[in-house]
Amino acid sequence: MTTRGRPFYEALDAQDELAAFRDEFDLPDDRVFLNGNSLGAPPKSTWDRLSRTVRQEWHQDMNAAWWTHGWLDLPTTVGDRIGHLVGAAPGQVVVGESTSVNLFKLLCGALQLQSGRRTVLTDHDNFPSDLYIADGVAHHVHPGAQVTRVDADTIPDALDEDVAVVVLSHVDYRTGRILPMNEINKRAHAVGSLVLWDLSHSAGVVPLALDTDDTDLAVGCGYKYLNGGPGAPGYLYVSTRLLPDIQQPITGWLGHAAPFSFEADYRPAPGIGRLTTGCPPLLSLVALDEGISLTARADPALVRAKSSALTELFIELAGERLAPHGCSVLSPRTPAHRGGHVALRHRAARRLVERLATEGYMAELRVPDLLRFGLSPLFVRYVDVWDSVTALERILADAPGDPAEDQP
Ligand SMILES: *Cc1c(COP(=O)(O)O)cnc(C)c1O
Repeated sequence: MTTRGRPFYEALDAQDELAAFRDEFDLPDDRVFLNGNSLGAPPKSTWDRLSRTVRQEWHQDMNAAWWTHGWLDLPTTVGDRIGHLVGAAPGQVVVGESTSVNLFKLLCGALQLQSGRRTVLTDHDNFPSDLYIADGVAHHVHPGAQVTRVDADTIPDALDEDVAVVVLSHVDYRTGRILPMNEINKRAHAVGSLVLWDLSHSAGVVPLALDTDDTDLAVGCGYKYLNGGPGAPGYLYVSTRLLPDIQQPITGWLGHAAPFSFEADYRPAPGIGRLTTGCPPLLSLVALDEGISLTARADPALVRAKSSALTELFIELAGERLAPHGCSVLSPRTPAHRGGHVALRHRAARRLVERLATEGYMAELRVPDLLRFGLSPLFVRYVDVWDSVTALERILADAPGDPAEDQP
């Protein structure tokens, strides 16, 4: 049992080297956002940037702005900024469609590169959209392919010469568990398989070294820890090794080698541009650029250290104060195996998340019985951890509720 109270957490905030970042976000005073891993917070600079884009660039230059303001290159310039954040040298990341569509493109590309192999291997607990996309690709695009879902722990054992590609989330969207990227890449490469990683819950909070880890392919989300705003486009990564040969099925004009020569037949662009399709969502893209630029200013080692400290303190407090009320911690106990969020399990999860929200603590429900707390280190404070656990403890003690109403 620790005897630390709120002042201990206030002191941690006072010493926090990342504390100043919180002022760069437009946050309401009356709520604590513990769901920044679902939708990040708005950087204050985003509004100015959007306004400048519309009122100066678009207004003044109209169509010419695609060239005069570098709009056409933004998918790759912003891509390179993300690349920097995830340990990728320039020219391997491009921003464009949603994460799901990016996954579709890369999965099709991987199956084509691996022709002769039939299996797409994935984790049965993977994010549903990733599972649906894999099934959709096998059903509609590569009818010879078959999707095999296994427990994440057994991925290395399930690898064989028939596995074309392994599709995994680096950080589990429910539990926050981190999979060992480098090790899985190595095991897969040993049997000639590729690995396609979904970085949605890791980029911006968990250090990544895509090039060093010899990663093949990856996709990720722009609106979570990257604070790109609602519906911000996602991104995709293709290693330099695979770039010359990879193809993708949505062969639109902007992925063409010479879009403005308006040729009758498709020729893929030589670089990462071949993964693009049509006009980029420009306003969303500039908002994403602001989010990334802000994230990129924070030292990744400090971000990871604070993130681990926040989740560690949350888990410690939950063990002391929530466990007696039947709330268990689902996330890994070892900090190195845990991403930026914590999941608690309680049969009344829905009711508890709703009650927390009425008190201004914005956590999330993952049906049927999980409460998910995203502790974005750039704007969540140590006192927020203390206050939210305190609120939850009080709610549990005050209103245990009628268990008959809760999930079995
Ligand atoms: C949030 C999230 C996505 C987002 O998918 P969209 O297609 O951009 O809506 C994808 N994968 C994972 C693992 C996620 O957590």
